[in-house]
Amino acid sequence: MSLIERDSQHLWHPYTQHKTAALPIAIIKGEGALLWDENNKEYIDAIASWWVNPYGHSNKYIADAIYKQLTTLEHVLFGGFTHEPAIVLAEKLLAILPTNQKKVFFSDNGSTSVEVAIKVALQYFYNKGEKRTTIIAFENAFHGDTFAAMAASGISFYTQAFQGMFIDVVRIPVPIKGQEQESFDALRKVIKNNNCAGFIFEPLVQGAAGMVMYEPEALDQLIQICQDNKVITIADEVMTGFGKTGKTFACDYLAQKPDMMCLSKALTGGTIPMAITTFTQDLFDAFYDDDINKALFHGHTFTANPTGCAAALASLSLLETSAMQHNLVRINKSHLDFKKRIENHPMVTATRVLGVIFALEIKTETSASYYGTLRNRLYDFFIENGVILRPVGNIVYILPPYVITDAQLQKVYEVVESALEIV
Ligand SMILES: *Cc1c(COP(=O)(O)O)cnc(C)c1O
Repeated sequence: MSLIERDSQHLWHPYTQHKTAALPIAIIKGEGALLWDENNKEYIDAIASWWVNPYGHSNKYIADAIYKQLTTLEHVLFGGFTHEPAIVLAEKLLAILPTNQKKVFFSDNGSTSVEVAIKVALQYFYNKGEKRTTIIAFENAFHGDTFAAMAASGISFYTQAFQGMFIDVVRIPVPIKGQEQESFDALRKVIKNNNCAGFIFEPLVQGAAGMVMYEPEALDQLIQICQDNKVITIADEVMTGFGKTGKTFACDYLAQKPDMMCLSKALTGGTIPMAITTFTQDLFDAFYDDDINKALFHGHTFTANPTGCAAALASLSLLETSAMQHNLVRINKSHLDFKKRIENHPMVTATRVLGVIFALEIKTETSASYYGTLRNRLYDFFIENGVILRPVGNIVYILPPYVITDAQLQKVYEVVESALEIV
């Protein structure tokens, strides 16, 4: 039996309607920006395997760091114990995060980093004896699939079966160009009419919504409004972190600083599941008390897994090399050239670039659904042509590993361009 036949006997895949979905592709090997399936067909991974892999598949440097850690101390519980990889990682991260970030809490994935952030925002006010229970989030946000993260997420596709079972979330419009004032006004009104604890947002780019982008000045303004009203701000950098926007963090474009940050995805270079939520001293202090009930009673078995920390440390060193920083500039330039070439195409209604992220919107008669026919035709076309891209409705985006070669990147552009001829 082939791997695919064996897969379909026992496995249940994410975001998949198994009755109608095409069979998965069995990947047996990866190197750099390339993946190979069981028939040895080659693919360019133009979305860095769901935005996790900046430094290339099967990266030797990260693998060596993992092996070294695995054979020194693979894991130890983090309740009542600590270890050097977690300490060094916290030191290194805090040195590059916005300067108000002082404390680091570990978990396992982007969703749990968001759960931790939302729980801390809610318990912060609980500990202070203040009734604030509403969380503010953007329309079409995506913050993950666990319950609080899902509550904060606004894409109905992911959450509609659970409506009515969520914590209290109020939504405001994203301040895209021309709609900034509407967003500011909505935020002021929401804060006035609710007991708001926190505001969670994807800074500058809403990934799962289709790489929707907005300006740092607008986010600065929203953060300022929150600060004026003592509403805690949470920057979900799970997607944008570690270089994707051209700076180390999207928040580096801001004049303001968020109170909390969520990190995952590229944290370990796409090797080991791990996430981090970071906090200001003021947030930590609200839990620091003689009363044990004021502590944060949250944890995961694999919290601060040393092997994950070692992978994260190796990843950070790679990101800091001048070669990797040069890649960010190279890919951005290349995206801007492609944008120029394609933006006037009759089938293209919008294009956007920030850092290594490129997105274009394809003209459609009706509004394209998230996993609709157009999306599936595009997806199949890309796969046939050996390029892994997962369009969101009528939006095609590219978010490659930073190590993608110029030739590979040009092939991705060419395939996207020819896809416009088939729609
Ligand atoms: C992917 C993502 C998450 C969820 O991360 P998981 O590791 O899939 O749980 C949360 N927030 C943002 C912005 C993301 O892109």
